[in-house]
Amino acid sequence: VVVMRRQMKSSGRWAKAEAILRELEEKCGTPTAKLRQVADAMTVEMHAGLASEGGSKLKMLISYVDNLPTGDEKGLFYALDLGGTNFRVMRVQLGGKDGIMKQEFEEVSIPPHLMVGSSHELFDFIAAALAKFVDTEGEDFHLLPGRQRELGFTFSFPVRQLSLASGTLIKWTKGFLIEDAVGQDVVGELTKAMERLGLDMRVAALVNDTVGTLAGGRYNNPDVIAAVILGTGTNAAYVERAHAIPKWQGLLPKSGEMVINMEWGNFRSSHLPLTEYDQILDAESLNPGEQIFEKIISGMYLGEIVRRVLCRMAEEASFFGDTIPPKLKIPFILRTPDMSAMHHDTSPDLKVVGSKLKDILEVPNSSLKMRKIIVEICDIVATRGARLSAAGILGILKKLGRDTVKEGEKQRSVIALDGGLFEHYTKFRKCMESTLKELLGDVAEDIVVEHSNDGSGIGAALLAASHSQYLEIDNS
Ligand code: BGC
Ligand code: MG
Repeated sequence: VVVMRRQMKSSGRWAKAEAILRELEEKCGTPTAKLRQVADAMTVEMHAGLASEGGSKLKMLISYVDNLPTGDEKGLFYALDLGGTNFRVMRVQLGGKDGIMKQEFEEVSIPPHLMVGSSHELFDFIAAALAKFVDTEGEDFHLLPGRQRELGFTFSFPVRQLSLASGTLIKWTKGFLIEDAVGQDVVGELTKAMERLGLDMRVAALVNDTVGTLAGGRYNNPDVIAAVILGTGTNAAYVERAHAIPKWQGLLPKSGEMVINMEWGNFRSSHLPLTEYDQILDAESLNPGEQIFEKIISGMYLGEIVRRVLCRMAEEASFFGDTIPPKLKIPFILRTPDMSAMHHDTSPDLKVVGSKLKDILEVPNSSLKMRKIIVEICDIVATRGARLSAAGILGILKKLGRDTVKEGEKQRSVIALDGGLFEHYTKFRKCMESTLKELLGDVAEDIVVEHSNDGSGIGAALLAASHSQYLEIDNS
């Protein structure tokens, strides 16, 4: 009798877990027709955001970048890239037509307390790392005598630019929350911190990582028209025709073009497949109600969504047995790289899943059945994110009229992609790419997705070069 009861209990447990899984699958569903609705909604919001300030959840920020790198850029330039959990400093010697002569970088991880501290502390920390890096500049780098070092600053948060080299922070995202910096000119904050340290450097360009990636991508390939980041956060930038930006009050740039930082992470639409897990994640986040698209796509959140599903399974289906593993209750304990490792487990007994459960959640024993369910959860959550990011890209192509084959003209569109999710989460990347093909049909062969490795830092340096204070002297 005891044995039978146990079996019943266990089969009831699996049935319940299975039901939770099927419900998740259904709620996360992204059939092609739905993705087309998402893409259309994206296009509509792009128009609205370009029409007027505050016209849409999509801020469609004007970057003041109206010329992308040409390949003529010359000289020594620095770049600073702040936006995820790491920040990096780099220097690059640009040799004009000879390309990049030499580059060096250093990556520093940001102590978590600085991500939620004060503006002063964060910028002091950054400036100090930069100063230390400048001190190691070797013989291979050449600054012309009497010149000030110049810097491209990649700052990967929504900024209202006042010019190419200044802009005020609209809000923080991705786990940063430093209230006294909101509304401040981030270039001013960095410049003051550099002055406090006696570091003589001028910020020549302030760019979002998407804009930097677009610039870096264009330097290597003239067909690059947009850039997408799939990393800790997500966002896109693209080249818009200046006269298609009604809210732009300034002079029409000579090029007739302007790079727009969409801030698509803040996109939201009734067509998005949202679940109860997403709703609670959002409500309990540092920025409730904001960055909804980002919260179902990007690396900061995917592992956390999986954790929340497992929590419910533990509570309602005794998925891990009679007790709920205490570690499972800790927000963000399951990181997306761990989720990715489990998702890619090809061993017959799913031993990677088993060891992640042991190491992270302190679940010493897990059955194959449990492991299989966990892999399925990872698959459902990653697939939704990947397919939605493809829909976002389709939205941009539609806005540019590049989503259909034009008779008589063959135009190639290259989209530069970067970010850890794209780079390291193979199943995510493959799914995003195949979904894009599925959505594009005939035009798929003219649209290319290209990895732009570390394009954002180099891009910022290139933009600093093309906006150097010494440009006129150099060109004379
Ligand atoms: C930020 C964007 C950034 C993206 C990718 C988002 O959270 O709002 O400015 O481009 O993350 O780093
Ligand atoms: Mg990279």
